[in-house]
Amino acid sequence: MKSKEIRAKFLDFFKSKEHSIVPSAPIVIKNDPTLMFTNAGMNQFKEYFLGNAKPKTTRIADTQKCLRVSGKHNDLEEVGKDTYHHTMFEMLGNWSIGDYFKKEAINWAWEFLTAELKIDKNNLYVTVFEGDQTDKLSKDEEAYEIWKKIIDEDRILLGNKKDNFWEMGDQGPCGPASEIHVDIRSEEEKAKVPGKDLVNQDHPQVVEIWNLVFIQYNRMANGSLKELPAKHIDTGMGFERLAMVMQGKQSNYDTDVFQPLISEIEIITGVNYGKNEQTDIAIRVIADHVRAVSFAIADGQLPSNNGAGYVIRRILRRAIRYGFTFLNKKEAFIHQLVAVLATQMGEAFPELKKQKNLCENVIKEEEKSFLRTLDQGLSLLDNIIASAKGNEISGRKAFELYDTYGFPIDLTALILSEKNYTLDLKAFEEELEKQKNRSRLAAQTETEDWVVLQEDEEEEFVGYDYLEAQVKITQYRKLVTKKDGALYQLVFNLTPFYPEGGGQVGDKGYLKSANGDITYIIDTKKENNLIIHTTKTLPQDIKQTFMAVVDAKQRNRSAANHSATHLLHQALRNILGTHVEQKGSMVHSGYLRFDFSHFNKLTAEELKEVENFVNARIREQLDLEENRTMLYTKAIEEGAVALFGEKYGDTVRTIRFGKSMELCGGTHVANTADIWHFKITAEAAVASGIRRIEAITGDAAKDLLTEQSTQMQQIKHLLNNTKDPIKSVTDIQNENSELRKEIEALKREKASFLKAELKAAVQEQNGVNYLIQQVDLDANGMKDVAFQLGGELGNLFLVFGAEQDGKALLTCYISKSLVEEKDLNAGKIVRALGKHIQGGGGGQAFFATAGGKNPSGILAALEEAKTFLD
Ligand code: ATP
Ligand code: MG
Repeated sequence: MKSKEIRAKFLDFFKSKEHSIVPSAPIVIKNDPTLMFTNAGMNQFKEYFLGNAKPKTTRIADTQKCLRVSGKHNDLEEVGKDTYHHTMFEMLGNWSIGDYFKKEAINWAWEFLTAELKIDKNNLYVTVFEGDQTDKLSKDEEAYEIWKKIIDEDRILLGNKKDNFWEMGDQGPCGPASEIHVDIRSEEEKAKVPGKDLVNQDHPQVVEIWNLVFIQYNRMANGSLKELPAKHIDTGMGFERLAMVMQGKQSNYDTDVFQPLISEIEIITGVNYGKNEQTDIAIRVIADHVRAVSFAIADGQLPSNNGAGYVIRRILRRAIRYGFTFLNKKEAFIHQLVAVLATQMGEAFPELKKQKNLCENVIKEEEKSFLRTLDQGLSLLDNIIASAKGNEISGRKAFELYDTYGFPIDLTALILSEKNYTLDLKAFEEELEKQKNRSRLAAQTETEDWVVLQEDEEEEFVGYDYLEAQVKITQYRKLVTKKDGALYQLVFNLTPFYPEGGGQVGDKGYLKSANGDITYIIDTKKENNLIIHTTKTLPQDIKQTFMAVVDAKQRNRSAANHSATHLLHQALRNILGTHVEQKGSMVHSGYLRFDFSHFNKLTAEELKEVENFVNARIREQLDLEENRTMLYTKAIEEGAVALFGEKYGDTVRTIRFGKSMELCGGTHVANTADIWHFKITAEAAVASGIRRIEAITGDAAKDLLTEQSTQMQQIKHLLNNTKDPIKSVTDIQNENSELRKEIEALKREKASFLKAELKAAVQEQNGVNYLIQQVDLDANGMKDVAFQLGGELGNLFLVFGAEQDGKALLTCYISKSLVEEKDLNAGKIVRALGKHIQGGGGGQAFFATAGGKNPSGILAALEEAKTFLD
């Protein structure tokens, strides 16, 4: 059975059980401080489990793209080494939001596997939670009893908290789980060791395929469990593992999900899969990682130097490095796999197909730059080896290579062992640990549990229409961060505060109590469908009614920048072409930043044209046409621009200004005239194929204009009130370059004059020509004279001292003949003399220089220099 059919069968099966089939949520999570990437199917439904929002239907199923490379679920190091853990994988899942519970979940899972897919019951085992003392939980009798009716009791195994209690993170919804495992070993193997002894023992042919989680608790900040008001079902089945079972394979990589990628890798590298464990691992790593990276890029996460972008960069680098070392690929090639992936997965995930070029380009650039890093690292490593004292390389040096240059430690270790050097791995790990502790401390945040003051269905956002509202606090919590100390987060029954989202920053403002007390709101964010207002103090008498007031000036500036961003987007698509797609956007009160796909730098004319286009829309005074409840399909039909990697509901909000129409949750001006003026301030590349424009509007544009005209006045004034400042500046530049030439000529003249003088001052002693003197020359001047005299006179021993800009300089030149005969060494001499000038230096045996901060020591240094002649 083709993997495509398996996916369809799963969704159809749950459709027949009255589930609504929903699309996969984006793999990159944008507005959740606790999670960077989707790591399980349930992530997108978290707010339902927490009771912060109500779903439209209570039975849902989907296939979800997941990534397990950070946080609580991190499989990265296993991937490639084993045959059934991936970084990116699809999780098939079905959910009940306070609807059915254990009985249906278990029976349907069983029905799907054994009746629908016809997997042999004799190959299946199930596990049930045995209970846990610290959590004061007893064995999950309910699940056990249900299983007993459908499977032999000796196939039901009890499992501990690690395997049979599912938690998404340190806090949040969780509960006991029942897993289904499948034994795909040969009959002989099965006869030797019974399958039930291998369940949850990391055996590659006895693997977990499906986990049924019975969500009934919320894990609190202090680690205790609180019973949830409603009970939910959350299941997750590994799609690639199921394909392995259905296709009679022994490894996920042998299924049709991975085979096309592996064949392509074999063709490109000339290395065959299945011949050697080490190259097999490398091939699996690359086949796996190109999926993770492509899916992330298609959902808007570019590789970068921090946060989620850094995680993606590290995954890609791991793949490059495996190719480099084990498949001997020294040029970029992983990007060539994107085409195969897009063909194969593009039907289920169209975002991959549509953004194939972007993925290819970004991956290619990353590959090239990391291969350059590897090259540099290799020569640095050569230097380290050359200057090593014994046969062991220090852990600190290896850490420096790793930390500063991104040079992988396992590669360092491998190269060292090839050259018969060892590495102090323990010291390296200590350095790594130290660094981790530093960043852990810096990032540490402790979140206390919510204190609920009043039950509230859903917090209403009124900020599109009002900047002030009377509110009540419904819940709050304390939060202690290393950076800001104690903060409070408040949730209201309704709020005019816009929470950060869609690139627009969150509103700031204040709460005013009846007696006039003010509590400042420093930021507003959304988390699990709650709009959270951050304050530094808790208002007094938190149960009263407050006036919540948004900082209108900042909000209006953000709104102008947001509307201008839409017009900019429209301008770019009109002028550059419809390949332009938004790849990131930041809307501040001060400025806007817009990233988009486009391959060339914008010319000055294009930038002007873009500015003119936007300013023309501003002059047209277009009214905002807003629709808060348009059907998604209708909006798309009408030409609204939707973004990849964004999660949209059935109904969406549309923002229209003339012909610009976007799906958007942000705040906007009522009329484009409110933007006043649009001015681009910067254009640059952010990644291969992605450009960034920064621009300002309204007040900021006015300020810029004022500032620039003041500056222009001052410039004119400095130029004697010239009418034509450009001509005046050009004249000055020309004059300047003439003067420079004259100065150079004079300097040369002075030097040759000086050289003649110095040559006359050379003395002789025991066949050595020597000159030890303070001179009025800079470092280059001294060098020139030294080499010229050296060329004209044989057997020369020369030491110059000079004072330049309050610093001391020493130069030492020794003819090669003297270096050999008298065993003199300029490098050693300047190092010895350095102490007089409070500095140091070095160089070669025949020429060396030193610098120091004490010019008054120059004479003493020259005095000592004479002693080397004896
Ligand atoms: P395992 O113990 O094998 O790592 P898990 O307990 O981490 O699995 P769950 O968190 O319960 O798995 O996820 C649900 C299902 O998703 C698993 O039963 C499995 O089929 C699949 N799965 C989990 N992690 C991966 C992965 N890294 N790659 C592929 N499939 C996975
Ligand atoms: Mg796992």
